[in-house]
Amino acid sequence: MRSKNFLISLGVVAAAALWINWGLIETKARYAIADAAGNVVVSNLAQAVAGNNDRGLAAAELITLPITAEEVSPGIFRASGVGNSYVLTTSEGNVVFDTGLIIQASEQIDQLQALTGDSEPVKIILSHSHADHVGGTRLWDQGQTQIITHEAFEEEQRYLTELNPYLHRRNRVLFPWLPETPSTLPGLNFRGLIPDVRVDNDSPYRFTLGNRRFEVHATPGAEGADNLVLWLPDEKILLSGDFFGPQFPQFPNLFTMRGEKMRKPVEYIASLNHLLTLEPAAILPSHLDGVWGKDFIRDNMVRIRDAVQFVHDETVTGMNAGKSVEQLMEEVRLPTHLQLSQTHGKVSWAIRSIWEYYATWFHFEHTSELYATPLTAIKKDLISVVNIPAAMQLVRRYLKNSEPEKALLLLELLEGEPNSDLARAARLETLEQLERRAQEHANDYELYWLASELDKARAAPLSAAPLSASPHDDDKRDVQVD
Ligand SMILES: [Zn+2]
Repeated sequence: MRSKNFLISLGVVAAAALWINWGLIETKARYAIADAAGNVVVSNLAQAVAGNNDRGLAAAELITLPITAEEVSPGIFRASGVGNSYVLTTSEGNVVFDTGLIIQASEQIDQLQALTGDSEPVKIILSHSHADHVGGTRLWDQGQTQIITHEAFEEEQRYLTELNPYLHRRNRVLFPWLPETPSTLPGLNFRGLIPDVRVDNDSPYRFTLGNRRFEVHATPGAEGADNLVLWLPDEKILLSGDFFGPQFPQFPNLFTMRGEKMRKPVEYIASLNHLLTLEPAAILPSHLDGVWGKDFIRDNMVRIRDAVQFVHDETVTGMNAGKSVEQLMEEVRLPTHLQLSQTHGKVSWAIRSIWEYYATWFHFEHTSELYATPLTAIKKDLISVVNIPAAMQLVRRYLKNSEPEKALLLLELLEGEPNSDLARAARLETLEQLERRAQEHANDYELYWLASELDKARAAPLSAAPLSASPHDDDKRDVQVD
């Protein structure tokens, strides 16, 4: 009896298994988890904004954008968010380009499906492996969707996954609304994607669906080695992913502060030259809004290409002339006709990046570069022998002369000196000078970093007045160091 019952129940389970769409149930569960995680981040964000107005908003612009879906061109629907997600409709099914951030994906999918129907997409094209572009892939895919990526996607995904704790710590400094530790909920795991089609650098992947032609072109060197774009040859529309960064035009991010692999400048220029041959009439990026106008797009693509080429060539020329990386960072400026916004990529950081891409980390200047002991290892010993008031007077002089970088170097060496109220005040003023200067050149990541450092400096208790507040008192305490 027992075994008969067992067999019957086994049969019921087997019949149910055939009947139930497990893919759909799994997708629904993922949906619920992603939704809940999104709510946690939204409340973190509200706290960050309430607790620190100047900080929270600056570092979290994209996450504060409302998610809305609209038809941006006939048959092309976009859901906004930290990363945009697009649905392209055809009479033979839909194609999705980029799937946003996991915590926003369920809302993006709901809104897109309200406009385009809730069928499973035929294909999902992922512009690259970054979290804000692949998050919702498993929420869309119920088992029948073909996933298309660059052939380097899996390798990029691997290292981003292996280094996730390290990257999360750094990202959280720049984007304080992120949860304290990376999530371990299986429903939030958006990595480990296995593509069905891998596009190589040599030939585009072309397909026709309904009456729409699609071309997927590899564009390595932008936001990593695994970048690709979607080109619609009949409509002359380019879905550019992150190739141009969040705005067009701007200087590209050849270096990223959160600490990813080096990006290759020459590869970026080659990809840009390839995109120029397509002659796009519109760019639909995976962040913020689209850009329209063939001439405007061509002129600015040429300008970006020439600016990157200029910075590259100046760096190489300087290296051959025996100049140091710091000298080049100081000297090389974009000429007037190549001026571009540096909110995303900063020229001086691109120079360091190009320099180290070619020459690696040994700058051939100091023997100590070869050994594991950093300058900070001698801080305590140095503080015990240095004339602190004289050193602090030197800091004040740097600040009076608007030389915050020099003040910063000296303060970093004096950090931890026993009577540190003056040092703390000086550190605050140094960071404020750096921030004021950064605002003029407006690189987002520099501002995020300085905001985080200022938070730390302000959190330290202060008993001394800021140095600039009482210059005469300072003068009385001055020690001659000339
Ligand atoms: Zn992105």
